[in-house]
Amino acid sequence: MPQSFSALLAQASVKQPLIIAGPCSAETPQQLLSTAKALQAYGVKAFRAGLWKPRTYPEDFQGIGAEGLQWLVQVRNQTGMLIGTEVGSAEHVRQLLTIKPDFVWIGARTALDPFALDEIGAALQGTPITVLVKNPPIPDVHAWIGAIRRIQSHNINHVGAILRGTSPTLPTVYRNMPAWELAEALSQVLPNVPILIDPSHIAGRSALVAGVASEAIQRGFTGLMVEVHENPEQAQSDAKQQITPHSFATLLNQLSQKPDAQLALKLLRQEIDHTDQQILRLIHQRAQLSAQIAHWKKEHAAPTFQPNRYEEALAHRLAWAQELDLPATLIHNLYELLHDHSIQIQQLLTSPDHDH
Ligand code: PEP
Ligand code: MN
Repeated sequence: MPQSFSALLAQASVKQPLIIAGPCSAETPQQLLSTAKALQAYGVKAFRAGLWKPRTYPEDFQGIGAEGLQWLVQVRNQTGMLIGTEVGSAEHVRQLLTIKPDFVWIGARTALDPFALDEIGAALQGTPITVLVKNPPIPDVHAWIGAIRRIQSHNINHVGAILRGTSPTLPTVYRNMPAWELAEALSQVLPNVPILIDPSHIAGRSALVAGVASEAIQRGFTGLMVEVHENPEQAQSDAKQQITPHSFATLLNQLSQKPDAQLALKLLRQEIDHTDQQILRLIHQRAQLSAQIAHWKKEHAAPTFQPNRYEEALAHRLAWAQELDLPATLIHNLYELLHDHSIQIQQLLTSPDHDH
C-alpha cells in the first residue's frame, strides 16, 4: 500500500524533497503512461498531468478534459504512483472524485477567484485529498494567504502551497519573477503549510529549470512540482519549459549533490544581472519618452534645455535618493548623465534638418 500524499508531504525535507513530476497537459494515454513509467524508474512517487488547462487564448489547447481521467487511473494502476491534476471549478472536482485522486492543485489564475475557491473547497470537503494552492500571478501575499485560508475554511486539513512566481512587469530572463519573498512572507503567517516550488513555470525555459530547482532547495523548500514531457517540442502546452525524462534525471542528480560553495555568489550575481538588465530597459524607455518630449517641444517651439525644470527635477531625485538611502553624489552624477543623454536626443530630433 503506497503512502498517502499527505504523509509524503508531511515527511518531506530539504534532504528528501517531495517530487511531483509529469507533463503540463495530458495529451494521449501513451504519452502519460510512458512518461509515468520513466519517472517511476527515477523514484518519483507523485504524478501530475493537467486535464483542464487554464489557457490565455481560446484557440490554444484547452486540455483533454474528462477523457483523460481513465488515463490517470491507468498510470496509478500500472506504476503505483499517486496522481493529481489541476481543478478550476466544482464541476472539475465532481468529475475527478470518480477516480479518487490523491492530490489536486489550484492554478495561479483560479487562486485569485474567491467564488471558484469556495466552490472547489465545498466540493472537496470530507475527502482525504491534499489541495496545493499556487500563488496568484500578482505579487501580493494576501491574495495567496486568502486563497489558502479559503480552502482551509471548508475543513480541508491537508493543504500545501506552490510558489510558481509572479507575472513580470518588465522583460526578465525567467518567464516569471521567482518572488522568493512571497514564500518567505507566507511561511511567517501560515508556518504549518508546506511550500513547494514550481521551477518550470518560474523558469519558462527548459535550460533554466534545474537551476531554479536547485536554488529553491538551497533556500529550504521541501518539495518540487516539475513539468516533464517525453518530447517537449511537440507538447501542446508549455513546450518551451518542459524537460525530458533524461534531463529530469540530471536535475535530480544535481539536487542530491552537496551544495556548491560558490552557489550563493552565483545566485546573487544572477540577480544583479537581472537588475541591471531592468535598469537598461528603463533607460531605453526613458530615451523614448525624451523623443516624445522633443516632438512636443518642436511643435510648440519650446527650448530644449529648460534650467528651471532641470533644477526642480534634480531636487526631486535627490530627495528620493535620500528616502532610499542612496548617496546624493551617485544620484546627482547619474541624473546628469541621463539628462545629457536626453538633451542629445532632443537636440537631434528638434534640429531644423530633422524631418520627423
Ligand atoms: C500548470 O501547472 O500547468 C499551470 C497551468 O500552472 P500555473 O497555474 O502556475 O500557471
Ligand atoms: Mn504548464
